[in-house]
Amino acid sequence: MRILLTNDDGIHAPGLKLLEEVARGLSDDVTVCAPAEEQSGAGHSLTLHMPVRLQEFGQRRFAVTGTPTDAVNLALRKLFDTPPDLVISGINAGENLGDDITYSGTISAAMEGALAGIPAIALSQAMRGDQRSFAAAETWAADVLQPLLEMARAKRTLININFPCRPADEVRGIRVVRQGFHDYARGSLVESKDPRGRPYFWFGLEDVEHTLDHGTDLEAVSEGYISVTPLQVDLTDHSAIGALAERYQ
Ligand code: MN
Repeated sequence: MRILLTNDDGIHAPGLKLLEEVARGLSDDVTVCAPAEEQSGAGHSLTLHMPVRLQEFGQRRFAVTGTPTDAVNLALRKLFDTPPDLVISGINAGENLGDDITYSGTISAAMEGALAGIPAIALSQAMRGDQRSFAAAETWAADVLQPLLEMARAKRTLININFPCRPADEVRGIRVVRQGFHDYARGSLVESKDPRGRPYFWFGLEDVEHTLDHGTDLEAVSEGYISVTPLQVDLTDHSAIGALAERYQ
């Protein structure tokens, strides 16, 4: 099995190093192509206003001076003669749960693989305050990935996996759940002035209010489970098509 690894925390991120170790336990054909610098929050942006460069960091190990989407797109065009069998993005330092996934470079990198018709998985490790450990992911990642490796999947779909912020032996198991939602008015906004007296604003993710609806990824991870959520790139609200069409008759 040929696997492409990427992330949004950058080529030197510890979560990517851990993912490489996990992936090499699953396959002897692993290629890494990740952003040269951290791109958290980059979403699915594709760099159009400047060139990007491909930098080599060892055998089948590359960085792209751009976004996670750039990295996957360039890897698929330049590093593979035929598409890889799997794209895995992560392991992100921090959760990607609920509607936060729409901002996520980690998810978007996997989405770029899915758009190319390749099975894709995003992995994220929840962290709280000074609890910055990948311990749960390190112990559980291979077990969570294994059932997905040979699984037939619909095109333009991906799987979002989050590991809870707790010691590996306190993880309660795996739950397949739907995407949850945060309240929009959430997170922190720092307001201050730069050295020249001009105001600036800085978005933060502290104080995020979670709406822990039953059966969601947010609930599962908060209760100590690993969440596994199938996602689709088709954003169409299929239930609204009929009613909307009637408005134009
Ligand atoms: Mn990140």
